[in-house]
Amino acid sequence: MELMYSSTRNKNEKVTASEAILKGLAADGGLFVPDCIPALDVSIDELSKMSYQETAYAVMKQFLTDFTEEELKTCINRAYDSKFDTPEIAPLVEANGAYYLELFHGSTIAFKDMALSILPHLLITSARKNNVKNEIVILTATSGDTGKAALSGFADVEGTKIIVFYPKNGVSPIQEKQMVTQKGANTHVVGIHGNFDQAQSGVKAMFSNAALKEELEKAGYQFSSANSINIGRLVPQIVYYVYAYAKLYENGVIAKDEKVNVVVPTGNFGNILAAYYAKNMGLPIGKLICASNENKVLYDFFTTGEYDKNREFILTNSPSMDILISSNLERLVYRVAGNDAEKNAELMKSLSTTGKYEITDAMKENLKDFYGNYTSEEETAAVIKALYEDTGYIIDTHTAVAAGVYGKYKADTQDTDTKTIIVSTASPFKFTRSVMNAIDSKYDTWEDFELVDELSRLGNVAVPNAIDEIRNAPVLHKTVCEAEDMEKVVKAFLSI
Ligand SMILES: *Cc1c(COP(=O)(O)O)cnc(C)c1O
Repeated sequence: MELMYSSTRNKNEKVTASEAILKGLAADGGLFVPDCIPALDVSIDELSKMSYQETAYAVMKQFLTDFTEEELKTCINRAYDSKFDTPEIAPLVEANGAYYLELFHGSTIAFKDMALSILPHLLITSARKNNVKNEIVILTATSGDTGKAALSGFADVEGTKIIVFYPKNGVSPIQEKQMVTQKGANTHVVGIHGNFDQAQSGVKAMFSNAALKEELEKAGYQFSSANSINIGRLVPQIVYYVYAYAKLYENGVIAKDEKVNVVVPTGNFGNILAAYYAKNMGLPIGKLICASNENKVLYDFFTTGEYDKNREFILTNSPSMDILISSNLERLVYRVAGNDAEKNAELMKSLSTTGKYEITDAMKENLKDFYGNYTSEEETAAVIKALYEDTGYIIDTHTAVAAGVYGKYKADTQDTDTKTIIVSTASPFKFTRSVMNAIDSKYDTWEDFELVDELSRLGNVAVPNAIDEIRNAPVLHKTVCEAEDMEKVVKAFLSI
């Protein structure tokens, strides 16, 4: 049976999976959600013998029901290939009693590769299935990692252009260098004077601008989104939770049906939402532990039931989590409201007019699967240093937020026995300066690439290809604009 998708703000308009992927965002500004979350239809015994690619097919076929087997397998095999530096794609590493799920073995060394390696293929396939003749313009706001992963996925993909906006002073030096050196005639990268939320709001405004849509249509273009609001990014992220669970089972770490906790360093709420969907598919997940940095709007939400973005935006050393509007939370809010689009629409309206909303007690009750907490900048640095000194394993700043929150969770709940997966979302090489400064303040004066080599020596890991290739790469993108001028910049690029 075909699984249909509808907007979190209006359940009357139904679209297929491929239509939802093409549109990115629903016309009413809501997010596409499946009518129901399908149950896993393969056993853990079967899954434990599967490769990453086979697991991806087993999971994704249940969500993308209008794709043929051949279409979906082709997308999967093109995405999860030798671009990843390990055939496991998403390996698990045990350190200090927890299992780090390393999602940074793709071409841009952050977990965004897990979904953005496949999204271009899903999108092109969706366009073909729906007889789209327009050229697709991917419009994306990034807090640092999505941008590079999307650029890398879409560079020179025929029938597409990609425009990425990032906060000029809100990403790490390596992140910026990775983006502005991007090759590909169809790629555009723009720094904005503003923060990530402004970049994201600017992109969202363009998506829901009907006049702009018409102008694009006339010129033979249509927008689509590579942001984590696209269902084509969410679904591939469910895969690695299923894969990791099956691997723990295969390796005898857990018994059949034994629950595991997952700790996810969270920003836009896409990654942890995928874990929640995996749990709803029947994967035995215990607690979903939502880890925030000092921008702890989600921690406050989970503890009080009130979401309030009216607060200072803090630039931290985990910039990919510097977010005050976690877009994907809307999908959770919709679900805990009992799939009530009207209630959700009312809350989201309140968010856009007053910057806050409060959920009902009944909805709060449905959030029991989650635990939220956060770490300060000092705590995050101390976690990196302590783990390195105890085990020799070096984690990045985002992963360290998760590891720190896991420590707080254990102290708070005394749940110290449940096996726990800590989602490792970036290679430490992507945030070399912050990581090395956490280990020893003497590194403060070193050059970026000296730090890279030193990190390789200390951690006893080779410098990833993604870093080597930007050492001497020329800067190809120099546009910088005000947040208000994003639309103008897009029009200029498209000559409309
Ligand atoms: C994007 C990102 C996150 C946050 O993930 P969300 O899905 O936005 O919650 C965490 N860590 C890193 C390294 C990221 O790139």
